[in-house]
Amino acid sequence: MIQDLGKMEKIVSLCKRRGFIYPSSEIYGGFSGFWNYGHYGSILKENIKCFWKQRFIFDRNDMFVTDTSIISNPKVLESSGHVSNFGNEIFKIQVGTGDEAITTHLRPETAQGIFADFKNLVDVHHPKLPFGVGQIGKAFRNEISPRDFIFRSREFEQMEVEYFTKEEDWSKHFENWRETMNSFAKEVGIKTVHELEVSQDERAHYSKRTIDFQFDYPFGRGELWGLAYRTDFDLNNHSLDYFDEESGKRFVPHVVEPSLGVDRTVLAILLSAYTEDELGGETRIYLKLNKNIAPVRAAVFPLLKNKPELVSKAREVYTMLKKEIPSIQFDDNGNIGKRYRRQDEIGTPFCITIDFDTLTNNTVTLRDRDTGEQERISISDLVFKLK
Ligand code: ATP
Repeated sequence: MIQDLGKMEKIVSLCKRRGFIYPSSEIYGGFSGFWNYGHYGSILKENIKCFWKQRFIFDRNDMFVTDTSIISNPKVLESSGHVSNFGNEIFKIQVGTGDEAITTHLRPETAQGIFADFKNLVDVHHPKLPFGVGQIGKAFRNEISPRDFIFRSREFEQMEVEYFTKEEDWSKHFENWRETMNSFAKEVGIKTVHELEVSQDERAHYSKRTIDFQFDYPFGRGELWGLAYRTDFDLNNHSLDYFDEESGKRFVPHVVEPSLGVDRTVLAILLSAYTEDELGGETRIYLKLNKNIAPVRAAVFPLLKNKPELVSKAREVYTMLKKEIPSIQFDDNGNIGKRYRRQDEIGTPFCITIDFDTLTNNTVTLRDRDTGEQERISISDLVFKLK
């Protein structure tokens, strides 16, 4: 693949310019491997997470959701093998002070919290196999060389599912999650995901099958997400098992794990959406974000901000739309050309302009981000059009 580092610089610069992502602690020179999400970046990330929850958890009837602590009893990461296998790569921390202080670690993946809580879940909900638990949360790795913007950072977020099954059924569920991951990629607007069957030598020692979902980043092809069959390794490590009421047998369930990094998802979406074209004889940049994840669904403008009758009509339309679609924005900053440029770069699919005709016939202009074309439509048709 030909590297296109210029595109990476463009994305980093757009993210800063439009308030998606900034270097952490920037006023002090930044801090390698740490990033801050600004207003639009936070909304984009939240939309991605909500959509993941919908597809990986709520659309199914065999899933639970959880939110476990980032810091746990040191025994969790000792039993899981992380401390002995990845000692330098996980952040050591002290909990408590003085002689009472306990040394433990920031979690390097969200998964262990799910395994360590397995008994609670089973005791409370009595789920029948197969079932899964999903979690979104921060993970920390003391990466030796954090790089490529948010691709490899030291603090990042994961969306993980641990799916528990009888041993003989694992491959069926593996295939099912594989499909879910591929269709999720399409639905959030990630262009072309490449599946790489990871060879035995490259796999984690406990995994009997792993597929890396890869993406062509400007710096080369790299991992986006992973799908692993983790066998019964984790529950065994924590000495946990399951009583199957149907067979009257006690055994250790096996695990299939789709693991998706939120930040790499954000990056792949931004790279897929980044577009340059010519409009009205000028080069323009826009993010072709799917409307289900775009931070702003539509922006409402008064044509002129010094005409009170236009401003108040625009406010009225904005308030009406916002009741139906929360991600509506009012924008009267700068002239109309600047507003279009800003909204294009934020990835706003529609812009609505209130002009003098609106005052007489209750119609507005609706501009489509991708074509730049405008149509005149009635205010009463707006909600339908934007949804
Ligand atoms: P890599 O080989 O790139 O280091 P990995 O195989 O160690 O990744 P996993 O342990 O499978 O990654 O973690 C699951 C997911 O978490 C990855 O697919 C990725 O999306 C995300 N992830 C892992 N490490 C990082 C990181 N340092 N920064 C951002 N995201 C990460």
